Amino acid sequence: MVMFMAEQILSYPCNCGGTLKKGFTQVEFFGIDFGLKECEICTRCGSEYLNDKVLEQIEEEVKKKKLFGLEKQAQVTKSGNSLVIRLPPEIVRFSGIKYKDHVRVYPVAKNKIEVAL
Ligand SMILES: [Zn+2]
Repeated sequence: MVMFMAEQILSYPCNCGGTLKKGFTQVEFFGIDFGLKECEICTRCGSEYLNDKVLEQIEEEVKKKKLFGLEKQAQVTKSGNSLVIRLPPEIVRFSGIKYKDHVRVYPVAKNKIEVAL
């Protein structure tokens, strides 16, 4: 989604030669909605450029949400015919998964399984 601010045209052009205008764009990373952020939008090709300040802000918010550094090793064990993967407490806290919850488990790639509440 692109929203233009009142006719604020910037003096430098886009790589395509088009004109950049200040505006707002919906920013989403890691499936998390960061809301509308200030950016520069090319009126010709539609490229959006986030400035360093906004990128820094997003990085901060991502860190706050602890999306980084949450990767943990887990060993596969066995229970009857099923394999058991123990979720480390940090991941449990972050995801909100609780004991006895029903979750959906599905492969997203040959070597990757997603678990969703
Ligand atoms: Zn352009």
